[in-house]
Amino acid sequence: MDYEIVQVNQNTWRIEEQGVRFFLLAGTEKALLIDSGMQVHHAKNIAAGLTSLPVFLLNTHADMDHIGSNDQFGSCYMHPAEEVNYRRAGKTGTIIPVQDGEELDLGNRKLRIIHLPGHTAGSIAVLDVAARVLISGDPVQEHGRIFMFGEHRNMADYISSLEKLKKMNSFDELWPSHADIPIRPDAINRLLEGARKVMNGEIVATSGEFHGRRFSVYDLGFTVLLGDE
Ligand SMILES: [Zn+2]
Repeated sequence: MDYEIVQVNQNTWRIEEQGVRFFLLAGTEKALLIDSGMQVHHAKNIAAGLTSLPVFLLNTHADMDHIGSNDQFGSCYMHPAEEVNYRRAGKTGTIIPVQDGEELDLGNRKLRIIHLPGHTAGSIAVLDVAARVLISGDPVQEHGRIFMFGEHRNMADYISSLEKLKKMNSFDELWPSHADIPIRPDAINRLLEGARKVMNGEIVATSGEFHGRRFSVYDLGFTVLLGDE
């Protein structure tokens, strides 16, 4: 399957698949894979080709395009609220729960977990503290499509999560799983404004379909939000 490895700096890589990306971050003692691909099912081998450190896995959430190689790992860091989705996807393996504010240290590289419910209940972002970069998963995208239709989405929680991100002053860039990278924090303000308008019925939707399921398409200009009909 096609993918491209982009080395961002000496100890950071992003692996670009068609339509989705995942990340490898190395410290001095261990490395963390953030998500494991969609079509790619050998992310562990890809990581082993890039670093000789032991590699652990963390998932921003359990949607299918983020857990492609999870079966290669016996365990993964994940927010406990995501377990339902993960098991529904047929995945076994141990979940090592991570909570909002918790820090993982890769050795000279501290990562902080930020819980961002809404897109899914257990969606998390990872703050690379010293680099001031937020690896943000799906909630914030530019020129992308943010999936907010279906059972496990929650628009009110999503808006609260954007409000929480807006108040943070700990990152200068966001690295989302989809579409443009990097994006600037001001994207959060525009998205928050757009999401509130969607919630209040101030944006006229068109209709779309994905795998036989109908949904509303809200074009915010800089990105598209897909909501329930
Ligand atoms: Zn996704």
